[in-house]
Amino acid sequence: SSKVLPKPRWLKAAPATSDNYKELRNTVRELGLATVCEEARCPNIGECWGGSDSEVATATIMIMGDTCTRGCRFCSVATSRNPAPLDPEEPEKVSTAIAKWGLDYVVLTSVDRDDLPDQGSQHFRSVVQRLKEKKPGLWVEALTPDFRGDRDLIRAVATSGLDVYAHNVETVEDLTSRVRDRRAGYRQSLDVLEYVKSLSLEKDVITKTSLMLGLGETDEQVRQTLRDLRSVSVDVVTFGQYLQPTKKHLAVKEYVTPEKFEEWQKEAEAMGFLYVASGPLVRSSYKAGEFFLKNYLK
Ligand code: SF4
Ligand code: SF4
Repeated sequence: SSKVLPKPRWLKAAPATSDNYKELRNTVRELGLATVCEEARCPNIGECWGGSDSEVATATIMIMGDTCTRGCRFCSVATSRNPAPLDPEEPEKVSTAIAKWGLDYVVLTSVDRDDLPDQGSQHFRSVVQRLKEKKPGLWVEALTPDFRGDRDLIRAVATSGLDVYAHNVETVEDLTSRVRDRRAGYRQSLDVLEYVKSLSLEKDVITKTSLMLGLGETDEQVRQTLRDLRSVSVDVVTFGQYLQPTKKHLAVKEYVTPEKFEEWQKEAEAMGFLYVASGPLVRSSYKAGEFFLKNYLK
């Protein structure tokens, strides 16, 4: 068994207290939405939900059920070969609820549904389409499965009207088979991101990916990953510390220091990414709307 590293002080987040946060927390209960923010006990909830005048209130909503057909070794979502069928009412219900909610930016994410003929892509597309019909001004990011690289399925989601197409490589190439489900692939994920960028769409879709650090990757492997991402024109990259959700999951190999995250921030910016978020507590969706604030609302 591997030794458990003590958690450093910089991983403690500030408590969530703002009025905006409390208001969102109350409405999420009434609307019955499943948020990753709450279910993963994300330490950033105060900052993301607390978006005030100067910030953008962001939340991550889960669709397509709470059970995944895959079993990535860093992820605490439940796994089954045959999860419950999709709820055909979900696009209508979820879009209505989100449109009512006081958010500026929403991240929609889903489990992987390898059990379904279209892997849930049409369902995902419907949720985005309905949401954009109901609240056109809301920025929508879709954090998507790899759809096993199937271009028709990827295109169905990419052309749904979303603003940001996110798909996470999660880790460097050499660690991928240890970290992610065996059906996932580093090259396949790069292909997904490259294909989305190659589509000529009515509006330019921003592509985004996230990396977890602290899994045993070397600096050179991280650097190579950044080069690979730039070579397929990925716009946004985030870096955060991997945290072990339970004892059954992969152990943390290293707690990367805030200074080191800052170095990655600078290095990635210098490589030409449009936006970079890097820090121990940064998650894929951490204050995701800030990117829009900086780039589109000057
Ligand atoms: Fe978790 Fe996504 Fe992997 Fe499923 S595919 S186990 S939800 S990380
Ligand atoms: Fe929610 Fe993502 Fe923010 Fe965490 S980082 S609170 S999951 S939006």
